[in-house]
Amino acid sequence: MKPFKPQLIYIEPGALEYPLGRELKDKFEKEGVEIRETTSHNQVRNIPGDNELQQYRNAKSTLVIGVRKTLKFDTSKPSAEYAIPLATGCMGHCHYCYLQTTLGNKPYIRTYVNLEEIFDSADKYMKERSPDITRFEAACTSDVVGLDHLTHSLKKTIEYMGQTDLGRLRFVTKYHHVDHLLDAKHNGNTRFRFSVNSDHVIKQFEPGTSSFLERIEAAGKVAKADYPLGFIVAPLILHDKWKEGYYDLFERLEAILPHYAKKDLTFELIQHRFTKTAKNIIQKRYPKSKLEMNEEERKYKWGRYGRGKYVYKNEQADDLKETIQTYIDRFFPEAKLEYFT
Ligand code: SF4
Repeated sequence: MKPFKPQLIYIEPGALEYPLGRELKDKFEKEGVEIRETTSHNQVRNIPGDNELQQYRNAKSTLVIGVRKTLKFDTSKPSAEYAIPLATGCMGHCHYCYLQTTLGNKPYIRTYVNLEEIFDSADKYMKERSPDITRFEAACTSDVVGLDHLTHSLKKTIEYMGQTDLGRLRFVTKYHHVDHLLDAKHNGNTRFRFSVNSDHVIKQFEPGTSSFLERIEAAGKVAKADYPLGFIVAPLILHDKWKEGYYDLFERLEAILPHYAKKDLTFELIQHRFTKTAKNIIQKRYPKSKLEMNEEERKYKWGRYGRGKYVYKNEQADDLKETIQTYIDRFFPEAKLEYFT
């Protein structure tokens, strides 16, 4: 998987008041990428394409450089207290992606250049919770690692958190472009997680992301650079022969991961869920997808803001949880299972 290279850039004029905004403009000018102006990163118009599907595909290779105005952070349960907003959108094409619901008609990739203001805000949240630790999740609205070779804003955030006593950073990725992050002064305050899944799920539903092997090799590098390491197995899908598929995943993970990466390891487990909105969008954007989204076979779980979702029925969810837990106990007896949701 090659590192992401945007085909089209939009810049908000306000972004040029920040060093990172100017730096990115220079960089893309030199590379000859088309640059357009947009009045607001919230309303990017005229993304090329003759129909919605083409526009969607082009939006996923469009980078919008903007200023984050809302400095109030969303909460981010269960993995952290707050979501730190560095970017939104992703170049990947995972059929099940939760951004289908949360970003809806804004699938383009946005990066925010006012990092100092974002860090000031993070600082306030930390002070509010002091003396307790405050965890910030950087991957709620994007796969930031997939983008960071261009912006280095994640790297700066890692170093910023590294200097704090009470701040912790975490994010998850399906990309292996981690080399520039290996020398960041993280001070053990960042947990670097990789998203993994059965071979079936990766092959069927995760186009445009790094392969399993690439992700695990990157995980080894990250562990060597002394980052706390974790894996998110998500979404857990009850596909044909899922028990064998997930067994095989843990077996391969254990075989490939270097020994030093196996200490202080965490696992987070998330079962597949979908909303009605997401289902409609996914069927339009990935019409040939084999992703099962049959409401009748699922349990409806009420959610905030009327965003109720369909999860597996209790018996199936219990089976999933117990099965995966057995695999973790068998292959990674010292690892910590943080949650199943
Ligand atoms: Fe969505 Fe993550 Fe896939 Fe990107 S890599 S499309 S954020 S699930």
